[in-house]
Amino acid sequence: MKADVLIVGGGIMGCATAIELANKGKKVIIFEKDLPGRHASGNNSGGVRCQGRDVREIPFAVEARKMWDHHLQTIGSDCGFYVSPRLRLAESDAEMEQLVKREETLKSMGYDHEVVADLEEVRRLSPNVADHVVGGLACYTQVHIDCLQCLISAIRVSRAPRGNNFAALTRLVASHNMLQCERAAYRHGLRKSPEQ
Ligand SMILES: Cc1cc2nc3c(=O)[nH]c(=O)nc-3n(C[C@H](O)[C@H](O)[C@H](O)COP(=O)(O)OP(=O)(O)OC[C@H]3O[C@@H](n4cnc5c(N)ncnc54)[C@H](O)[C@@H]3O)c2cc1C
Repeated sequence: MKADVLIVGGGIMGCATAIELANKGKKVIIFEKDLPGRHASGNNSGGVRCQGRDVREIPFAVEARKMWDHHLQTIGSDCGFYVSPRLRLAESDAEMEQLVKREETLKSMGYDHEVVADLEEVRRLSPNVADHVVGGLACYTQVHIDCLQCLISAIRVSRAPRGNNFAALTRLVASHNMLQCERAAYRHGLRKSPEQ
């Protein structure tokens, strides 16, 4: 078996990369030492989070959030996708000031996914907050997904052959360590062995 690209690791990153490359006509092999999704990708909280990120991450987080619509079509599953508004609370006036500043900073960057919520809105969103809470910053577009459902769909799609000419057959190969991946690469002629 020959491939254009070898990917080490059958987590969400490996599968997503395989899908994108296969859609561009590349043959891809994924090497996975355990089970696909056995590690972080099958055991996370499923938060597609823009709220509270370092401002340097915001452009990526917002773009990634938009890409979910595209990914849902790509992998043919809703991945348990649901919108679940999030609230960051201020427990003092000083904290509230910080949240107001954060909203202003984001607005100046052209983003409006985090908005100041007064006490009434905070209590509407979360009726049981403590009495001393003074307000909050709400993110109404926060999304959650079911990470396992997402991963299983991604694995299924990344393994599916595409088209007649460039069937990108993605194979999940059990191997125990990087060395085995390297050996497999030599065996398939994808890399020259140092002994050669
Ligand atoms: C408890 C928890 C909660 C989280 N919550 C969130 C959240 O709410 N929102 C969010 O966006 N992110 C969250 N994350 C982070 C998210 O899960 C990870 O960023 C993401 O899953 C990483 O994907 P990955 O494919 O890079 O890594 P992994 O899923 O770890 O996949 C890497 C794969 O590579 C394989 N591998 C490693 N070395 C080799 C080798 N030498 N040869 C072959 N295979 C190899 C491993 O077996 C593994 O399957 C959370 C993580 C954890 C642990």
